[in-house]
Amino acid sequence: MPDKSDKVRVRFAPSPTGYLHIGGARTAVYNWLFARKHKGSFILRIEDTDAERSTTDSIEGILDGLKWLGLDWDEGPYFQSANINAHKKAAEHLIETGHAYKCFCTKEDLDMKREAAKTSKQPYKYDRNCRKLSAKEAAENEASGIPCVVRFKVPDREGALVFNDLVYGPIERHYDDIEDFVILRSDGSPLYLLSNAVDDINDGITHVIRGQDGLANTPRQILIYEALGARLPEFAHMPLTLDLKKQKISKRTHGEVVAVQFYREHGFLPWALVNFLVLLGWHTPDDREIFTRDELIAAFSLDGISRANSIFNYRPGDPKFFTDPKALSINARYIKELPVEEIAWQIKDKLKEAGLYDTQYDGAKRQWFLDTLNLLRVRYHTLNDFVTLGRPYFSDEFQIDQKALNKNILKYPEVKDWLPQLAEALSRLPTWGAAETEAAIRGFIDKTGAGSGVIINAVRTVVTGQAVGPGLFECLAAIGKERVTTRLKNMPNLVMA
Ligand code: GLU
Repeated sequence: MPDKSDKVRVRFAPSPTGYLHIGGARTAVYNWLFARKHKGSFILRIEDTDAERSTTDSIEGILDGLKWLGLDWDEGPYFQSANINAHKKAAEHLIETGHAYKCFCTKEDLDMKREAAKTSKQPYKYDRNCRKLSAKEAAENEASGIPCVVRFKVPDREGALVFNDLVYGPIERHYDDIEDFVILRSDGSPLYLLSNAVDDINDGITHVIRGQDGLANTPRQILIYEALGARLPEFAHMPLTLDLKKQKISKRTHGEVVAVQFYREHGFLPWALVNFLVLLGWHTPDDREIFTRDELIAAFSLDGISRANSIFNYRPGDPKFFTDPKALSINARYIKELPVEEIAWQIKDKLKEAGLYDTQYDGAKRQWFLDTLNLLRVRYHTLNDFVTLGRPYFSDEFQIDQKALNKNILKYPEVKDWLPQLAEALSRLPTWGAAETEAAIRGFIDKTGAGSGVIINAVRTVVTGQAVGPGLFECLAAIGKERVTTRLKNMPNLVMA
């Protein structure tokens, strides 16, 4: 049973009809932070009453996604479908207490009235025809088998229903504008609006923090709360996240880039993604960007949620950024600043999968492994960069970037002769390190009169596969004498191929 004290209880209530997308994940982040901040409970409720659209894959995806992000829940997952009887009971109770009634109007009747309203350019609202039926008349209709729905009896009140949304401020809805809405279909199944409110009541939810698309439901749900004599929760609706064309982000329009799983596969650190998501529509007065878990919990407050829609700055087809550049820059900062042991732990499986993990990285080569990650991580944006761009550090099988090859090797025919000579000079070094390789390469440049830029760029390209990277001599030190000299010696074969 829910705790009836004032302890904060919030929920994330996804409908399992697709993958966990970044909009949903942001809702989960805000609820989780709010719960942690107030030492309350974060409840996970799967709203699976739409049996046709809900899938077990989607449920698993949501649970996996939340776990990966580190958004641990205190209760649940509860499944809305298990509560249908409670929703029906609530509807019966509303009928018994005079807050709801059975409506026998046929679809044809209603369609006709809707059409007539359209023709006379009037807004359509159910005319409350069956609200006037006596209990006896309703019972007779039912006994003779006329199908009916159950409608909520919107109170006959002057003026407007007003509530204070914690993000949008006071919201008004005139009672006159609220139709006597259906809460049970003719087959007896509850409508979502009812199920969602009844579950929130039964789960003892104190703060409903959800997307702005829920705002249209709120006045009617408040009426349900009132009629059931339940304590009203606070409501906080969050602005939407739009793309650069001001379209709502969705799987249909944007594809995988809006799925949490995409970020996992593309080498995001989970907390870096949480950090990016929280900034989509929330900020601190000093616009701080990077937060540890505890810092974020301490800093988070609903006051910081903006009313303006946030922008997911994604440009499809942009070769430089495969997602919002800010997401990448936040991830890059985490990769650069976390303890290197943590990075080592995070990339272990990825390197293993790519066949790049030497078991000695856990033993004799541990220090080399950590030093190499330290060198590389300064320039990387994702964990996957260690596997792709970092490949020449862990394997001899790698491809040389074609542009780098054209620019730094093929353009200078003399390089073909120089690099094997340089390999000779380097192989004579008694000790191997950044200072030693630097001295040897500079000495070689002086002796041969080769352009220093030409040599340095050529060495980098042949040894690391790329035109850019961390300081060359540190790279050579990390890759090791054997590999460096072999790569330089084999250079003519490379050019022939
Ligand atoms: N199941 C709803 C959704 O996924 C949640 C609505 C709510 O949070 O009240 O949009």
